[in-house]
Amino acid sequence: MPSIFSKILAGQIPGQFVFRDELWAALLDIRPVAPGHVLLIPLHEGQHLSDLPPVTLAALGDRLARLTATVKAASGAPAVNVVVNDGPAAGQEVPHAHLHIWPRFPDDGKGFAWPHTAYAEGELATWAVQLRSAWR
Ligand code: AMP
Repeated sequence: MPSIFSKILAGQIPGQFVFRDELWAALLDIRPVAPGHVLLIPLHEGQHLSDLPPVTLAALGDRLARLTATVKAASGAPAVNVVVNDGPAAGQEVPHAHLHIWPRFPDDGKGFAWPHTAYAEGELATWAVQLRSAWR
């Protein structure tokens, strides 16, 4: 079933676009964390970043860097958050991969819950081994 983003990209549902090219598009999020919050969305429909074709992924860095600069320039913000909710357990509501970019200002009160923890003795090294063996 096409995602709501596919419907917007197909023109079936309205969206306010910042840009659209052959691989990626950016549009305004209708429920922004802050005004100027945009979504960077691949035209290819896949739920996870790892589902996207190599050509789409290869273009991601360019589009993302330009969009962070665009959001800063348009909002006057000195910083942005870039967030990906990759899977429902991470808060993904729309099953079509996308990146959130929103403006940040000093003391804007928009910090999000990101509670850091600590590793037990030896646990960090164990995780490093697990991650290195899973790297593809
Ligand atoms: P996520 O929770 O990462 O899947 O984020 C989905 C985002 O899509 C949310 O921030 C929503 O506000 C946004 N969203 C949902 N429907 C629309 C829409 N029709 N136009 C623009 N943004 C939307």
